[in-house]
Amino acid sequence: MTEQNKNIVILGAAESGVGAALLAASKGFQVFVSDTGSIQEVFKNKLLENKIAFEEGKHTSEKILSASEIIKSPGIPDKAEIIKAAKKAKIPVISEIEFAGRYTKAKIIGITGTNGKTTTTLLTFHLLKKAGLRVGLAGNIGNSFAELVVKDEFDFYVLELSSFQLDGIKDLKIDIGVITNITPDHLDRYEYKIENYVASKFRIIRNMDRSCTFIYGEDSELIQDALFDVDTDAQELPFSLEESEGVAAWGNLNRITLDPHFDISHDGHQESNLLSVDLTKSVLKGRHNVYNTMASALVAAKLGISARVIEDGLQDFQNAPHRMELAGVWDGVTFINDSKATNVDSAWYALDAIKNPIVWIAGGVDKGNNYSDLYKVIEGKVKALVCLGVENEKLINAFKGKIPVIQESKNVRECLQLCKDLAKKGDVVLLSPCCASFDLFKNYEDRGNKFKEELKKLIQAN
Ligand code: ADP
Repeated sequence: MTEQNKNIVILGAAESGVGAALLAASKGFQVFVSDTGSIQEVFKNKLLENKIAFEEGKHTSEKILSASEIIKSPGIPDKAEIIKAAKKAKIPVISEIEFAGRYTKAKIIGITGTNGKTTTTLLTFHLLKKAGLRVGLAGNIGNSFAELVVKDEFDFYVLELSSFQLDGIKDLKIDIGVITNITPDHLDRYEYKIENYVASKFRIIRNMDRSCTFIYGEDSELIQDALFDVDTDAQELPFSLEESEGVAAWGNLNRITLDPHFDISHDGHQESNLLSVDLTKSVLKGRHNVYNTMASALVAAKLGISARVIEDGLQDFQNAPHRMELAGVWDGVTFINDSKATNVDSAWYALDAIKNPIVWIAGGVDKGNNYSDLYKVIEGKVKALVCLGVENEKLINAFKGKIPVIQESKNVRECLQLCKDLAKKGDVVLLSPCCASFDLFKNYEDRGNKFKEELKKLIQAN
């Protein structure tokens, strides 16, 4: 079949779907885009400008099921009726990432994991750019990979890959793949089976060959367990906080050591291969960021980037908002916005990273959390918990008797005032909610933005 008479249907008309439509149209395919919701103005305009046919508010089955291939947005689950019908009709269903990968010769760096994806992706992109490489940034982070491939001006693409995006990969080869860590999350999409979620993350190595590199967090138990069943020709570069012959990078809050030539089948490191990177001036703080830095620095070192450039990059890196972001200081009390911490593990690292007494804001939509994992890290450090959510009972029960003061609030301004009253000079008020935000907010960005805006207003008014 030639591309001209191949008929591509794209389901979902947001960033990735519209990007795929633009790329497919630029390659001469017949393209039809379908979205059951209403399409945002900016995306609709792009489709109109490029004369791409679309529908919104429905899926017209006859049109969709006449496709030779379907590109599905990662937000649409496999159990959606239209996907089941497409599979029954034996129409291949792929992701935008898979599709875009067919049209570029650039090297693909893919980054996944339960936590740390965005930070690691942005940092990797920053380090490569700093080294003067021609590099594009896309994936889950907001930009469509397919749209970048329309022009295809880069030698490298750094892609943040969610497990939903990885589910749609068939033949795409990831040249350098990173799994930062795996802890339970999103289990609702994986039949509540952790092994399905882990398998989804490991799809990153699916098409790797000897020319590829697989970088992963050795300290993550679920990764370690999964490795027993993994057979890959790729070079493996595990990283850990513990120094050993079996890892390619190790370190602590002050310094990391990297061995990009590491060979897992031969124990021992050659002194001449090692790069030593000082972290004392890095803008990224906390143990979780030592992991993220090791992952990004391994990618950079693998591409021949020097320790010096990595160190410089760590000093002028700017992370995305809502990740341990300094929101403001009010009368000597520091307010930190970690609204992106929507699971227990990410909140653990935030609580661990702060050494001062903490007034902790948590709560929202609980995704089946096991709060006892936090008992140790809060001990003697969290002086008060302010629950910011509609249903706070589970949270309150979990921490009753473990945190001296527990209060509730359903309003950001009131919550901030309450925290300020509970805190003393030198304390930290930390928004690291452990939970999704949909009960009181649109999403985690909305929660973090309201936190920052209200804080600013309160500081000005006082
Ligand atoms: P993701 O894109 O995977 O959600 P982010 O970099 O956006 O990851 O960070 C999400 C949350 O997890 C933030 O609250 C951040 O402080 C925390 N976090 C970042 N890196 C890690 C890590 N390696 N391990 C655990 N938590 C992390």
